[in-house]
Amino acid sequence: MASQTDIPPSSQDAAERPIRERYEEVKARIAAAAQKSGRRESDIVLVAVTKTASMDQIRELIGFGQLDLGENRVQQLQQRAAQIDEYLTRRRDMPSSSASKLPQQVRWHMIGSLQRNKIKKTIELVRLIHSVDNLRLAEDLQLAAEKREKPVEVLIEVNVAEESSKHGIAPAAARHLVDMIDTMLSLKPRGMMVMAPNTSDRDVLKRTFTRARELFDEIKRAGFGGDRFDILSMGMTNDYEVAIECGSNMVRVGSAIFGKPAIEESTDDD
Ligand SMILES: *Cc1c(COP(=O)(O)O)cnc(C)c1O
Repeated sequence: MASQTDIPPSSQDAAERPIRERYEEVKARIAAAAQKSGRRESDIVLVAVTKTASMDQIRELIGFGQLDLGENRVQQLQQRAAQIDEYLTRRRDMPSSSASKLPQQVRWHMIGSLQRNKIKKTIELVRLIHSVDNLRLAEDLQLAAEKREKPVEVLIEVNVAEESSKHGIAPAAARHLVDMIDTMLSLKPRGMMVMAPNTSDRDVLKRTFTRARELFDEIKRAGFGGDRFDILSMGMTNDYEVAIECGSNMVRVGSAIFGKPAIEESTDDD
């Protein structure tokens, strides 16, 4: 009979294994899934989603060479970007040998829905915005980006599964939105972002990701989005392997690396 001090294996899993181990496992699974679809690990970009991570964990991950980081709320993104910047600057000024391996900068990704009053802050901080899903938002981004030298790179978030609860533009309207964005001088459409239904049903996941891939290829083939429409951001902790097998080349993984959050938090206030 089990004693009270026995720890069930599941609670030992994500929460207590060292972050290095969890990170290496995610990388290995990405490599295996890439190989299954005839690609290499280096063809897939891993965005580590830090929304539930501590600053220590983020610093540790950067030390392993992880440069692409994602947040879904602008306020937290702003705080963390500033803290990481300061940390990297401070470390660079130190004569230790480990500091020389740290990057100059990390690359932040905005993966959550973007409110109009947060646009200005966001475009100064991020490498890629994953969540553009309507023309109005694109127009506001264009206005805010007008004075920049480099265009703001964006993905079109598409609600491929057509769930009423989800953000994202309807698949039938996606091509037109990409085309409109491509005419905006300070925006660059780089691809699509898709979220699958919250399920472990492999068939549903496969169907969703395959539809996404087909839509992505169709838009690309039609020449909408110009010559650099080449990013398909899909796959999270529960489904990144399926997503890669279906053609994803960018995955956004949080809890598999940092552990599950203690409390489910809402993502709508910011
Ligand atoms: C939180 C979040 C993720 C990561 O989710 P995990 O299940 O923790 O991997 C990916 N994409 C978006 C848009 C998110 O908000």
